[in-house]
Amino acid sequence: MPAKTAPLCVTIGGFDPSGGAGVLADVRTFEAFGCRGAAAITSLTFQNSWTFSGAEHVNATTLVAQFSSISDEDRIFGAKTGMLPTREIVEEVALLFHNTRLPAPVVDPVIESSTGGLLIDDSTIDVMLDEMLPVARLVTPNVMEAQRITNSSIVDEATMIAATEKIRKLGACAVLIKGGHLPQTDSREVIDVLNDAGTITVFRDDRIYCSNVRGTGCMLSAAIAAGLAKGTNLVDAVSDARAFVLEKLRQCASA
Ligand code: PLP
Repeated sequence: MPAKTAPLCVTIGGFDPSGGAGVLADVRTFEAFGCRGAAAITSLTFQNSWTFSGAEHVNATTLVAQFSSISDEDRIFGAKTGMLPTREIVEEVALLFHNTRLPAPVVDPVIESSTGGLLIDDSTIDVMLDEMLPVARLVTPNVMEAQRITNSSIVDEATMIAATEKIRKLGACAVLIKGGHLPQTDSREVIDVLNDAGTITVFRDDRIYCSNVRGTGCMLSAAIAAGLAKGTNLVDAVSDARAFVLEKLRQCASA
């Protein structure tokens, strides 16, 4: 249990009862980085590692009641958003980050779980982009999400870099595209591309094969939010977060 003096990080996202992804994975990650973790839930999902059978979304009033319970008590140093399933939720979450003295969040623009569950209505994706990109410190799409956001095909490092610039033009100040699902790259390497206000950093690592780890995107964005909460600069926060997720993958591959 982190000390009361540890910086508080909050996640706003979906609850996965099996614990593999969503806010449970986020809070575990915050605490692994020496932060205190708290969560406001946008949706109760019914899923485990092989199936996604549905979800019961909360309304804006219920979300704000959860969030206020956290923010009324303590200062929030780090924040991330995950599953924002409905227009009502998206608009309320964007308002929270406009109206209060909260840190700009890491926005993980999740669209679909690896088991095929839709985490946001198709008609809400554009509202989410309009509302959340401008308030984000960083947005962290995977290749599929970045293709949907930019309406363009991403096949290699050059098209990843171009996509980060397109997403910045949509209003984000910084973008990290995660290349784990890139179709045609050298299969021994994984690259992620960070574009912070036009400065590009490419992170490269050996690919680790482990099909049964879920929530890697949740962990990565939560780890970045925790690093930022502790005052780490963005490039180092991304680098530390990648090292954390890679270690989880290594542990899984050797288990
Ligand atoms: N479920 C929830 C509630 C999530 O927030 C996410 C990702 O953010 C996922 C599932 C996706 O996890 P995975 O693709 O690893 O199954």
